[in-house]
Amino acid sequence: MSGTEWAARPDSRKHLLLTETADVFRDVVGEGVRHVAARVGEAVRPTTGPDPDELRAEIASIDLDRPLSDSAEALAELDDIYLRDAVYFHHPRYLAHLVPPVAIPALLGEAVLSALNSSLDTWDQSTGAMLIEQRLIRWITRRAGFGESSSGIFTSGGTQSNLQALMLARDTALARRAPTPGERWRVLPKLRVLASEQAHFSVVKSARTLGLGDSAVVRVSTDSRYRMRPDALEQAVFRCYAEGAVPIAVVATAGTTDFGAIDPLPALAEACRRHQLWLHVDAAYGGGLLVSARRERLAGIENADSVAVDFHKSYFQPVSCAALLVADEASLRHVAYYADYLNPEDSGVPNLVDKSLQTSRRADAVKLWLTLRVLGAEGIGALFDEAVDLAHATWRLLRADERFTVLAEPELSTVVFRWVGGYGMTDQECDAANQHAYSALFDSGAAMIAKTKIDRRVCLKFTLLNPNTTLQDIAAVLDLVAGHCANHLVLADAEPLLPEVS
Ligand SMILES: *Cc1c(COP(=O)(O)O)cnc(C)c1O
Repeated sequence: MSGTEWAARPDSRKHLLLTETADVFRDVVGEGVRHVAARVGEAVRPTTGPDPDELRAEIASIDLDRPLSDSAEALAELDDIYLRDAVYFHHPRYLAHLVPPVAIPALLGEAVLSALNSSLDTWDQSTGAMLIEQRLIRWITRRAGFGESSSGIFTSGGTQSNLQALMLARDTALARRAPTPGERWRVLPKLRVLASEQAHFSVVKSARTLGLGDSAVVRVSTDSRYRMRPDALEQAVFRCYAEGAVPIAVVATAGTTDFGAIDPLPALAEACRRHQLWLHVDAAYGGGLLVSARRERLAGIENADSVAVDFHKSYFQPVSCAALLVADEASLRHVAYYADYLNPEDSGVPNLVDKSLQTSRRADAVKLWLTLRVLGAEGIGALFDEAVDLAHATWRLLRADERFTVLAEPELSTVVFRWVGGYGMTDQECDAANQHAYSALFDSGAAMIAKTKIDRRVCLKFTLLNPNTTLQDIAAVLDLVAGHCANHLVLADAEPLLPEVS
């Protein structure tokens, strides 16, 4: 290649973080942080309620093969297509999903870990970051009541934690029951995982991914507060045996997505011990109790074989930050695979890739580390407890409000309710009104709430994680919901008249 051809190339190098561009990095990212801070500071509602078609067209019109001149221009464009209409989870009237406002020390961690770009697969890429992760795993396994032989690994979230846990359960069972490959293929379709009707859908997805199939997940019924019934579990195990199926694991949920219900861990642990089943506790949401004043609600978790915790839910961390904990480090051998080019078995140094489903992996632990060093465990737990307190106050408010029915008393920080304010309405009309209120609220941007179905009926849901949300916010949003529902009734009544008018 000639010298002129070299010269004709764009000078991309100035956009890489290199020795001589360290100050460019500081200026560009510094400007970006100032911009985001301004957006966050001025957000007067959780979202603008953007129209997906409009936004899609705007994004589609951008020519990705024709770059802008610099990062400042790119940020301005990003502001148009993303920041302006984004959902601002820190807003006190964002009440929809399990996404918290994020801890500022964790954001500092994000800046550090992505600039350094440590990848936690091997010791020679991560050094201190890897030891930080392992120290945090030790810290959280102690809080869970696990013993000396426990271990764990940071994951991308509850979905990955559940998948890996069920993989360990599957391979532990197969190692015991079907030592040869031929036997494994014969046994595989018979394996069953028991989980409550309220368990997270990632349990079924995991079974699918692991070659067990959707129907390998046996749904166990729940009590009036949506917790797994131990007697129903017992019956389900015996039904498996009667059908010639092989139950291998129970997934207990500690904090279901809808109700925050915590399955009775001591009774389930006892059943698992008797039937030699792997007990996985999906505490993706309820794991926050490990640092809260309500720690006793997780009593029995110390008897689990594995636990999923999402720090990006109840520990106020930005996505992703989560972990899978295991009671017995040896069980992690089922994910280990040794490659000469990466992690030879005789490397003599610890390589976390041996414990993870991922290879390249972010140093997400750094975020939790900085948060703990600044807030302390109790500081994090107190924030979560505030959300749980608010959920209780909200539940009492709803109980006293004739416009609504409220479902189970909250165990964590969600409240499920339904508007029933109209006279002589059918269930279907009620469904439609609640559905309408949910969408109308999003479109207006005034508040965001969630929607679910309980016993086939449309219900609305508050998921509370923001200590800035007050009971006055809740009351105001309930008035908005009631207004939209009543409006919908008026509109629905008016509709049959429309053809006559036209
Ligand atoms: C959120 C959640 C999950 C999924 O976790 P991700 O981090 O979104 O992958 C699994 N189980 C429960 C109970 C959850 O609340």
